[in-house]
Amino acid sequence: MVEEKKLYGQIRGPYNQKTVKKRIEALFLDNLGKILTSEQIKQVAKDPYTGKQPENWHQRLSELRTDDGYTILTWRNRGDLRVEEYMMPSADKRPTAAKRLRPTAQTWKLVLERAGNRCEWEEDGQACRLGEGDTDPVSGGRVRLTPDHKAPHSVNPDTDPLDATQWRALCGRHQVMKRNYWDSTTGKLNIHAIIQSATRAEKLIAFRFLLDYFGYILHADGSITRADV
Ligand SMILES: [Zn+2]
Repeated sequence: MVEEKKLYGQIRGPYNQKTVKKRIEALFLDNLGKILTSEQIKQVAKDPYTGKQPENWHQRLSELRTDDGYTILTWRNRGDLRVEEYMMPSADKRPTAAKRLRPTAQTWKLVLERAGNRCEWEEDGQACRLGEGDTDPVSGGRVRLTPDHKAPHSVNPDTDPLDATQWRALCGRHQVMKRNYWDSTTGKLNIHAIIQSATRAEKLIAFRFLLDYFGYILHADGSITRADV
């Protein structure tokens, strides 16, 4: 078996950025595709002037993922990483990593009242309407409703948490559906993601549909020809 050599990063620095998060970010950006250990991250997280070690570096690291949208891999995502090892594969940020805005408890109460404690997802005029605590007939799990921000491109962090019309209640399955299959910037379905996650049989149906749509014929031997020749 060929053991792939693990590439470890190094602290270049100096990292004089003002915040713990900015210093950790700079360390990762200097070491794209390379493994960083928690020792290295802690080293850089220290205040460059006082040398004080922050206790919350781990929290700042997770904010780089959740708030800034960076991908930072750990042993949970990558078999070749050990515990306490981290890697940022590229400087790309997920555009959907908008601020983690939440409705206030009062707003969320209003949303649930309006929703009748049911999922408000609608598709082709068909509403989901699964209730909190119901058994989801598709996933088999128990339904838990959580808030979904309806229009992320007009986010106003000052008023939105107080405005029930900006939010809706969604069941877990539809939260995933929205995140994975719904492009919140265009408001359109992410067809590519849907096809990718479809079963082979469903992909074949889509494939045949597209062949037909573009005027091709799939023959029994697997060859494809244009219908008009
Ligand atoms: Zn639902």
